[in-house]
Amino acid sequence: MWKCASVADQIQRGAVNKLDKNKKIIIVGAGCAGLTTAHKLMKEGYTNFEILERNPVGGGRMLTYKENGYSCDLAAQVVHPGYKYAKNLIHELGMDDQLCTVKLSQMLIDDGEKLIPTIPTGTPELDKYNAEWLAKMGPENFMRLAADIKALCDNEKYHEGSVEWGIHLDNKGNFRDYIVDNYGEGVLKGFVEPVLSAIGLVHPENTGVIFGSMIMWTMLAGAADVLANGVGSLAEAIIKKCGDKVKTGVEVQEIVIKDGKAVGVKTKSGFMPADAVVCAASANKALKILPNAPESIRSALSKVTYCPTITTLLFLDRDKARFPYDATGALLMRSNGNPMGAISLSSSKTERCVPPGKECILMCLYEEGARKLWNASDEEVLNEVMRYMGRIMPETVNAIEGIHTARFAEGNYIMEPGCATAIKYMRENHYKDVEGLYLCGEYMYTGSYESAIAAGGRTAQVIVGQLEHI
Ligand SMILES: Cc1cc2nc3c(=O)[nH]c(=O)nc-3n(C[C@H](O)[C@H](O)[C@H](O)COP(=O)(O)OP(=O)(O)OC[C@H]3O[C@@H](n4cnc5c(N)ncnc54)[C@H](O)[C@@H]3O)c2cc1C
Repeated sequence: MWKCASVADQIQRGAVNKLDKNKKIIIVGAGCAGLTTAHKLMKEGYTNFEILERNPVGGGRMLTYKENGYSCDLAAQVVHPGYKYAKNLIHELGMDDQLCTVKLSQMLIDDGEKLIPTIPTGTPELDKYNAEWLAKMGPENFMRLAADIKALCDNEKYHEGSVEWGIHLDNKGNFRDYIVDNYGEGVLKGFVEPVLSAIGLVHPENTGVIFGSMIMWTMLAGAADVLANGVGSLAEAIIKKCGDKVKTGVEVQEIVIKDGKAVGVKTKSGFMPADAVVCAASANKALKILPNAPESIRSALSKVTYCPTITTLLFLDRDKARFPYDATGALLMRSNGNPMGAISLSSSKTERCVPPGKECILMCLYEEGARKLWNASDEEVLNEVMRYMGRIMPETVNAIEGIHTARFAEGNYIMEPGCATAIKYMRENHYKDVEGLYLCGEYMYTGSYESAIAAGGRTAQVIVGQLEHI
């Protein structure tokens, strides 16, 4: 008779890749994947590890700007309803009291003139435009998408975890096909493509179903959870717990593989031996430092690409800076050739975001817009931002008092064709290909920071023998 595997059996199977507590582990990268691995290892009593981070500060793409007690997120901002692993981490770090729900009303700005708010406006001119826009898409199709997205986020299964739900949905194909099959071409062209393009994902065929759905949800939900001190505070909390185990400013040049086993890393200062190496760098950086990894690993990593992004935080005088139509965020359609994507208003989040009387607006430059200004000074970036903002919010331009920029060579994650299958295979099998190598990062599941936290936490579970693979 077939019998369910007992927990003991599963742990036994997981033990295949288990490492003894006294073995030395090097974690490459102090982004949320690497830091979560460290946090979970410490919880299990594994303390013989070091985290090597090439940047002067840890956190990777989980970054919050802080000044005088105020904090603004520079990349990820929202804690989605299905972020089970992130919520669990927030809880374990004792930060539940930082979670707060804020209003989220987005609008789509088309060519600097037309607005398609997802909030009622009562403006006849806009309502007329929206009616035409809806008619082109098919109102019933759009309403069905909105209802389904809401249902997805209310779904028990989604609350059990967007990563698990994503794995299930991603097997169904890419987001473009999913939308066309279920809601028609009109919804794709009129809503999904503009929204995705506004956050750097120009091709819905290169987006997973769950990631695409989460972005639609952000547009339509009306409210969302954020962390009062920013999502970067999660990284800060773990870095503090790790103490001097985090070595910043140390770039790993190569993860050394000898006779099918990871034996350490090469840095500028020489070879550092280890019994195991957790590679928690982004997929393209992992590819660079794993020149001798087997083809099964290298070809999967090479299928992941990223959209370069510059985020700009603009500091303004609140009295002069106003968003049209009382929205808290705007998505600018890049399909019309403008260089910018999403804009969000920081004061709409929590009072810890901006000082009284001040306002912060976060704007993103993507792909060509980012590449063009990659080496430019903040002043040059500001000029470009003001030139474009002058077209859509002329009154706000005069309120700008300063700028802070952050550059992400790896912005949002783009799935090349065949990516999901190759990554799934690698996720489950890479331990067999190179003993002592544990790959993790956001690219393993959906491309979100939830995905990075899930990959990091599950990697620690593989190391301690609780899981067979992530
Ligand atoms: C602008 C922007 C907005 C985003 N918005 C959202 C959002 O709303 N919701 C969401 O869920 N996600 C969002 N994301 C994505 C999310 O931030 C990432 O998926 C997540 O933070 C990735 O974490 P990670 O640990 O896998 O990778 P990273 O954060 O990239 O961490 C990898 C770390 O490894 C280090 N490293 C790389 N190579 C080496 C080396 N050779 N030696 C030593 N160290 C190395 C890097 O410096 C980095 O610190 C956004 C990202 C960006 C850029």
